[in-house]
Parts: sequence; C-alpha cells; structure tokens
Amino acid sequence: MTDVAAYAAFDPKSPLRPHTITRREPGPRDVEIDIVFSGVCHSDVHQARDEWGGSKFPMVPGHEIVGRVTRVGAEVKRYAVGAVVGVGCMVDSCRECKSCGEGVEQYCSDGPVWTYNAVERDGKTPTYGGYSTRVVVDEAFVLSVDPSLPLDAAAPLLCAGITMFSPLRHWKVEAGQRVGIVGLGGLGHMGVKLARAMGAEVVVISSSNKKKADAVRFGASDLVVASDDSAMSKLEKELDLIIDTVSAPHDLSALLRLVRRDGSLVLVGVPDKPLEIPAFGLIGGRRSLAGSLIGGIRETQEMLDFCAKHGVTSDVEVIPMSDINVAYDRMVKSDVRYRFVIDIASLR
Ligand code: NAP
Ligand code: ZN
Ligand code: ZN
Repeated sequence: MTDVAAYAAFDPKSPLRPHTITRREPGPRDVEIDIVFSGVCHSDVHQARDEWGGSKFPMVPGHEIVGRVTRVGAEVKRYAVGAVVGVGCMVDSCRECKSCGEGVEQYCSDGPVWTYNAVERDGKTPTYGGYSTRVVVDEAFVLSVDPSLPLDAAAPLLCAGITMFSPLRHWKVEAGQRVGIVGLGGLGHMGVKLARAMGAEVVVISSSNKKKADAVRFGASDLVVASDDSAMSKLEKELDLIIDTVSAPHDLSALLRLVRRDGSLVLVGVPDKPLEIPAFGLIGGRRSLAGSLIGGIRETQEMLDFCAKHGVTSDVEVIPMSDINVAYDRMVKSDVRYRFVIDIASLR
C-alpha cells in the first residue's frame, strides 16, 4: 500500500479539500500510473454534491485520467513502464455477463466498478478517482493514449469524448446527416467535433448565443438559442439525431419537434430530477427517445485512436487542484470553456 495525495469531498455541502488515500501494490495484472492530468466532468459535481443520491464519502472524484505507467505486474502484456495511458469511468466489471462479453462493460449486469464513488468487486474496498497523484488499475481497464496527443487536451476524451462517440456510432452518424447537439459544455463541444469528424453537419442548441463563435470554430454550421422560437421553427423535422447533454431539468418537446420522422433524441445528460415526456412529440414522427451511457473499453480505445487520427481533442482550461471548488461553481453556471483539467503536478 502506498499513501497518495488527493482532494476529496467529505460531505455534499463542504468544499473539496486535501486528503490522503492509499493505493494497493500492483498485483500481477495491475498497472500503476502516475497521474498527469485529470479532467473535471459535471458528473463529479453531481456526485460530490450527492445530487443523484447514494454518494459515498470521503469521495475522490475524477474519471478522465491520463498519466504515465510507473510499474506493471508480472502478467501485464499491453503496457510497459513509461507508456502514456488513460483511465475512464470504469476500473472493473464481472467480465462474464452478456454485456461484458460483447465489450459493453458499462452495461455489465452486475454493474461495472466505477472509478470512484464505488467499491471494488471484493464488495468493500472503496474506489478513488483521478483527483490524486497515482492510481492502480487492472490492465483490462487501461487505455493506450497516442503520445502525439497533448495530454491535457486528451484527458477529457476518457469520459466526455467516449460519451459522445458511442451514441454517434450506435446511431450510425455519417456524411449527409444533420446532428443536433444540445448544451455546449464539456460533452457538447466534444460531440460537435466528433460528429463533424464523422462527416455530419452539426447544429448546436444552446441556452444563449454567447458560445456561437466557439460552436462554429468547433465545426458546427450554426448555433440556435433554444428559447428563440423562430430559429427553432426553421429546424423543425430537420435533424436525424439529437444528443442532449443538458445537466439540469429542461423541456424535451421543443427538441423533439426538430427530429425528422424515425429519428432519435438521445439523452446523455443526467438532470437530478425526472424530465417530462411529451407523447405527441414522439408519436407525431414515430420518433425515439433513448439514452446512452459512456462506452465500452474496446470502443473507448477506438475513440482514442480516431481522435489521434483526426486531431480531435478537447478545448481545456488547465487549473491547479486548489481551484477545483471555483471550477465546480463555474460549471453549474454553464461558464466552462470547455473542460476544466487539473494539473496534478499542483498536488505533488
Ligand atoms: P457541462 O460541461 O457543465 O455542460 C452542460 C451544458 O448544458 C452547459 O454548458 C449548458 O450549455 C447546458 N446547460 C446547463 N444547465 C442548463 C439549463 N438549466 N438549461 C439549459 N441548458 C443547460 O457538463 P458535462 O460535463 O458536459 O455533462 C453534462 C451532463 O452529462 C451531466 O449531467 C453529466 O452528469 C452527464 N454525463 C453523462 C454521461 C453518460 O454516460 N451519459 C457521461 C458524462 C456526463 P449551454 O451553455 O450551451 O446552454
Ligand atoms: Zn464523466
Ligand atoms: Zn458483466
């Protein structure tokens, strides 16, 4: 066991503060990683503030981890000391159920072991995330990061990137299609870049026009303000797929009417309260309302390789660990351009 510096939430109300955790000695299949950067996801805020219920404290959030391998177990085949690697939202799963067999471990019938705010498969050891200097993870849940990618801008790919890539692939987005991305935050801006790199035309639907120039810079053809009825009407039945990343309660009917017949509105945002489902919005165009959860390990590697090939990374604001509470408050106000990433050197 090694002591490791970290930042933790101790209860839903207090600011995060310094903490010391222990990491296990690497077992035969484990990879020990010195964390270099850790992205800040809105899910970190939801869980640190216990907005979804059931949070386990003390909690060390962080599931967008990039770093360098420092030690490997005797049976580790894929990674050597010095390799640049990533860890996303999961660190284990049952590996036996149908979902695990099909490489979609995020839908493991036992539930995957989340990188933090969870317990290992022994049923008792808490998992702690990337707001820390070091992590030890089974190689089956470690990803290879192409060293050509800037490490700070690559970190958000491990959650924001895969969460958008997976539904874009599942719903078979390609050239000639029009995709709507709702909410231009961490997930949303990755959605724009990835859908564009897959050849689709992308329209951003945002709560204001403040991010319009950025949306266009990321590859969108336009940004439409959700409350602007006339602009929204022009998009009616125009979009093949909408991916909704909004983290707070909002109206789905205004979005559904933009979806063409047989198209889908896919939720990835997780507001803390249930949303209303407008039946007319669905039946009026045989539309589907769906959801999607991160992506499997195989697909995460595919996404990282796709991003290296197409030069897709996140637009980041690098912060020292001590700025985390300010970053959370800014995220809640939608004031994020477009992902906070913690420089873990500030914790050493
Ligand atoms: P984020 O960076 O804070 O972005 C969320 C965006 O949603 C904001 O930038 C804002 O965009 C829009 N928004 C926020 N509050 C709003 C409101 N009251 N009304 C309308 N729009 C609002 O968050 P994120 O990290 O991208 O995460 C987004 C959501 O996805 C969170 O709920 C998170 O927990 C969830 N998530 C899900 C998965 C999954 O696997 N399904 C994975 C990661 C995260 P505009 O400024 O453009 O309006
Ligand atoms: Zn996340
Ligand atoms: Zn499983």
